[in-house]
Amino acid sequence: MISETVIETLQSFVPEENIHLQEPMAGRTTFRIGGPADCLIEIENEEQLKQITRYLNLVEERYFILGNGSNLLVSDRGYAGTILQVGRKMSRILVEGTRIRAQAGALLSQVSKTALEHSLTGLEFASGIPGTVGGGVVMNAGAYGGELSQVVTQVNVVSPEGESLEFDRETMEFGYRTSALRKHSFTVTEVLFDLKEGEKGRIQAGMEECSRLRREKQPLEYPSAGSVFKRPEGYYAGKLIMDAGMRGYQTGGARVSDKHCGFIVNVGKATAQDVLDVISEIRERVKMRFGVDLETEIIYLE
Ligand SMILES: Cc1cc2nc3c(=O)[nH]c(=O)nc-3n(C[C@H](O)[C@H](O)[C@H](O)COP(=O)(O)OP(=O)(O)OC[C@H]3O[C@@H](n4cnc5c(N)ncnc54)[C@H](O)[C@@H]3O)c2cc1C
Repeated sequence: MISETVIETLQSFVPEENIHLQEPMAGRTTFRIGGPADCLIEIENEEQLKQITRYLNLVEERYFILGNGSNLLVSDRGYAGTILQVGRKMSRILVEGTRIRAQAGALLSQVSKTALEHSLTGLEFASGIPGTVGGGVVMNAGAYGGELSQVVTQVNVVSPEGESLEFDRETMEFGYRTSALRKHSFTVTEVLFDLKEGEKGRIQAGMEECSRLRREKQPLEYPSAGSVFKRPEGYYAGKLIMDAGMRGYQTGGARVSDKHCGFIVNVGKATAQDVLDVISEIRERVKMRFGVDLETEIIYLE
């Protein structure tokens, strides 16, 4: 449990309305699951982030960086520590010629929309990914043949010691749904996207096609965290799960989606434990039937 002294100090760094004590994480994740975080702070700028991370490190208080919570499963007990949310309060988007500079809390859908408005091509694939720029870069989010690594040219971060650092495409070591930032506790503050001039009608058509595919294939009508598992080499996780006979498999309120077996959906009052139980059953059955180890893509926070 976070102490009064720590809370008082945090209150000196950010306006009081940005600090939420005992904040239910179910309200901050797309899964709509998760107990309370001791403290959640909505970050507004890089300076606040530096002061807070430096301080929390100094007093050895744990913290976690939250974007839009769209790739996250939070424990039913919640999080004993501080959540720093880099979200809508830090979401400025600037267009500089064929480049877009976006703060980490901007939604990928907003950045893609800005690209469309300026007839810039390269981000069509990202228009329906419900995450922030920061979360997207850390996870190297991708869809329909595109990945952020193809268009990101610079990533500004803050280190736990409160230093500003800059990564480029090489030092980001992008891989499938991963980057160098997953190994370090850096917080992304700003990202520069390098796009190309395109034709507005074609860009729009590209985005509409991606949305159509999403609506058709994904259970967007239920809360979820997207694909639960990474794609195993040579297979599709959803197909393996379906072939293992697990379509519609349900524990409590967590269900293997009937529409896309790679998704676990919250069909009503699912607990994190329900989801973990479904994950563990899937992994066991897929391993038994096909000898494939499924690795989770979603992040479990406890
Ligand atoms: C319906 C649905 C569809 C989806 N479709 C796709 C898809 O097509 N492709 C895809 O790749 N993903 C998809 N996802 C998953 C998810 O949207 C992406 O992984 C997204 O990039 C996560 O961003 P976020 O801001 O929500 O991150 P969060 O879930 O908040 O966090 C994810 C990770 O990133 C870290 N993080 C977040 N912000 C920062 C920051 N500023 N600095 C440092 N670390 C940070 C967190 O600490 C955590 O480790 C989907 C999810 C849903 C619910």
